[in-house]
Amino acid sequence: MKVLLIIADGLGDRPSTDLGGMTPLEAAIKPNIDYLARNGIIGLIDPISPGIIPGSDTSHLTYLGYDAYKYYTGRGPFEALGSGLKLEPGDIAFRANFATVDNNGIVRDRRAGRIRSGTDLLAKSLNMRIDDVDIFFKEGIEHRAALVLRGDGLSPEVSDNDPHEENVEVPNVIPLSKKGEKTARILNEFYNRSREILNAHEVNKEKRERSLPEANAILFRGGGIVPELPNFELKHGIKGGFIAAVSLVSGICRLAGMKNFTPPGVTGSTDTNVAAKLKAAVNGLKEVDFVLVNIKGTDIAGHDGNAIKKKEFIEKIDKAIGEILIGEKDSLVIAFTGDHSTPTSLKEHSSDPVPIFVHYKGSRRDGFENFNEMSARGGTLRLRGNDLMNLLLSSANLAEKFGA
Ligand code: ZN
Ligand code: ZN
Repeated sequence: MKVLLIIADGLGDRPSTDLGGMTPLEAAIKPNIDYLARNGIIGLIDPISPGIIPGSDTSHLTYLGYDAYKYYTGRGPFEALGSGLKLEPGDIAFRANFATVDNNGIVRDRRAGRIRSGTDLLAKSLNMRIDDVDIFFKEGIEHRAALVLRGDGLSPEVSDNDPHEENVEVPNVIPLSKKGEKTARILNEFYNRSREILNAHEVNKEKRERSLPEANAILFRGGGIVPELPNFELKHGIKGGFIAAVSLVSGICRLAGMKNFTPPGVTGSTDTNVAAKLKAAVNGLKEVDFVLVNIKGTDIAGHDGNAIKKKEFIEKIDKAIGEILIGEKDSLVIAFTGDHSTPTSLKEHSSDPVPIFVHYKGSRRDGFENFNEMSARGGTLRLRGNDLMNLLLSSANLAEKFGA
């Protein structure tokens, strides 16, 4: 059997006053999810381990069988993955800001007035080559951006040029070890060249005319190396694919060598076409043995603090499962869970364990009517994230016996 893993991002929640004390999953009308859960096994999963608040990056790494404590190399590389830049193992990546720096090199605004427009044009002008090093720069939301260096002899062992405060001078980048010398030199050169380019840029000329803070400098911090993930197929002995609109998740899957089946037109928000994603997953499973589908809308509604929107989005997922998956239920292992909880009452990720069901032909039946955070407690499963691939592979009869 083949395996379909559906991750409704940030699925887990807490009771909401907007839903009469129920969680979004509990309140949602979701006959198809409830049917599969009732006829399969359910339980709770701690994405990393109990009490650890997961990021989407660390939990997806863990679910795919990678030790996040080993392969998560910091926010620089993973935010750069999330920016959509196509990274390669060994690249050095930083989190960056557009900032306003005066003629004396003093930081006046670390966020360039939380600049909202024109950052795409500014970012494009900052892709360059210095010596034998290629430099990629990509805008993010507001003043945020990602800076990536690709070349030989580079290292993340350098200081930040972001002073983390205002009204002080932008410091030079200093190597923190011998290994960091070349990287520090390239970064200082990049800073100087980017100052010239940004000062002369049309976007900033216009800001000058309107007396708005100029985005005339780049501050960067938190450098890390893009990890070399062991290949998914070599690791698990099966071919893997993925469907994800958010580039953080697709970036991780791509680093693992998984095949991209993401259909055009998916948005990574609550207006996404869930049915198109599931259809693409079923098609992808003709080619590979395992497909991960990330559906982001639940996390977005969680961060918005909107329990009703989260409930309605779960209902949308349920409808798509009914259309696309119920007919496939006897030929697939279908697993449904979240990568962490994003309680609408917190508007942030929490360490609350996440409900999960696994359904396949001939599986045990836990028999609970409504699949939710509370009923999951009474089910068969109690997992940590790094158990998940083992469970899915053994459910699909793809695992080997441990011992004789
Ligand atoms: Zn997430
Ligand atoms: Zn989130």
